[in-house]
Amino acid sequence: MTLKLGVHWFRQDLRLAHNPSLEILAGRVDQIIPIYIFDPKQPIGSTSKWWLEQSLNCLSNDIEKRNGKLNIFEGDPLDIISSLISDKTIECFYWNRLYDSYSIIRDKKIKSSLKSNNINCKTFNGYLLNEPWEIKNKSGSFFKVFTPYWRHCNDIIRNKKFDKKTIKIKLFNSIIKNSKNIQKLKLTNKKLNWTNKIQNSWSPGESNAQLQLEEFIKNKANNYSIGRDRPDQNLTSKLSPYLHFGEISPMFIYSQVSLSKKINSQNKEKFLAEIGWRDFSYNLLYHYPDMTKNPIQNKFNKFPWLKDNKNLKKWQKGLTGVPIVDAGMRQLYETGWMHNRVRMIVGSFLTKNLLLHWKLGEEWFFDTLVDADIGSNSAGWQWISGCGADASPYFRIFNPILQGQKFDPKGEYVKKYVPELKNVTYKFIHNPWEMPEENQKNSSCKIGKDYPNPIVDLKETRNRALSAFKTIS
Ligand SMILES: Cc1cc2nc3c(=O)[nH]c(=O)nc-3n(C[C@H](O)[C@H](O)[C@H](O)COP(=O)(O)OP(=O)(O)OC[C@H]3O[C@@H](n4cnc5c(N)ncnc54)[C@H](O)[C@@H]3O)c2cc1C
Repeated sequence: MTLKLGVHWFRQDLRLAHNPSLEILAGRVDQIIPIYIFDPKQPIGSTSKWWLEQSLNCLSNDIEKRNGKLNIFEGDPLDIISSLISDKTIECFYWNRLYDSYSIIRDKKIKSSLKSNNINCKTFNGYLLNEPWEIKNKSGSFFKVFTPYWRHCNDIIRNKKFDKKTIKIKLFNSIIKNSKNIQKLKLTNKKLNWTNKIQNSWSPGESNAQLQLEEFIKNKANNYSIGRDRPDQNLTSKLSPYLHFGEISPMFIYSQVSLSKKINSQNKEKFLAEIGWRDFSYNLLYHYPDMTKNPIQNKFNKFPWLKDNKNLKKWQKGLTGVPIVDAGMRQLYETGWMHNRVRMIVGSFLTKNLLLHWKLGEEWFFDTLVDADIGSNSAGWQWISGCGADASPYFRIFNPILQGQKFDPKGEYVKKYVPELKNVTYKFIHNPWEMPEENQKNSSCKIGKDYPNPIVDLKETRNRALSAFKTIS
């Protein structure tokens, strides 16, 4: 008797549990061939490559524990899949959907090629709480503002059934011709010690994602609504890279947090709304497919951005002379992650005080974040620079001194990442250039020598940004 074989194509769903495509396929075929294709045309940042390598190792080990074999390929997915299905025993080909325009166009072609070869091809939602096309306002259009979007989504999600039990999956355990070893993908360069530091900060993989969620629910979630704005306190979930690579399901997170008796309703609502922001970003990306390149508001095509490579480099390296900005940029470079409040502060500084194009920030984040995500990153940058779907740029010129004093009151976050300032008293920690000579001496920090003067005047550049906005309003 011939076995009925199906392929599950892993993409940004590097997990075995709560994986809709895998679970439904398991009910339809005798054995599943798990495959991953590294598509060189799909954009991926340097830090994400490190995470991907680790994550594929974890997935491959988890599959081996279940007597299966993850087959890894590199190249054009259409060619690879066409060659795979030339083996006539494959009957079904399933995957979980992606929502960026490159993937949508590519996947449509693959789906139609599979169908014309009489292969049962089905796709599922394993990445979001709701499909972007499902959520419509009263006039039948999509939402451009988060609050009404989320109110509407929440009603839908509450009525969705989420089945938490894991399904038994029978996996195919042979190596397929042309499949590769993970190391052969050459995702990381062992000589670069940049990722060594990042390695100390993270443990990728599905089981670590589960632990991260458990730890968050047990020890942090009940302080989330206040703590989420404090970079000096470790009170956010740090689930973003796990969510990006699909090592954990957003529906599973939603259901675990909603059902938890350890978290009060205020904290639950706040946290679930942040998961909602992730969906909202994909709602925008789906409806504005070129928002990774172009501003949602067309008038920003005429915005008088400056060109200043020197200032850009100083921002990237955390040498702007503005402590909270430098701490954030160094946290990013050292750990591959930055606290959300600080992402907004450094984003406002780049696009408003330095008047540099938001794409420059978006590209640097995309290359250096472990959670670099085409939807959340471009939505975040468009939001902070004021060219996104819901605009109020005048309110978003953050004052980095006041932000620092409010959200890092003792300067502990700054001191952790900017050790030059470790002896500076909290009175001057966010504005060290105002320290009298005596204090500079006592804190062994001569401004202009041990730590730079601010590269721009904050007040002047705020006014310059406001005038620039007037030119396009
Ligand atoms: C300029 C800018 C760029 C950003 N780039 C990215 C990015 O590339 N990838 C990314 O995942 N997030 C991005 N964010 C959103 C946010 O900063 C991170 O998701 C968050 O800091 C991750 O930390 P956490 O997991 O501890 O978050 P938590 O506070 O624990 O939130 C839980 C989850 O909700 C989601 N989330 C939270 N805030 C947001 C938000 N504002 N937008 C979208 N999703 C959110 C994330 O998936 C996060 O893991 C960006 C924000 C800004 C302002």
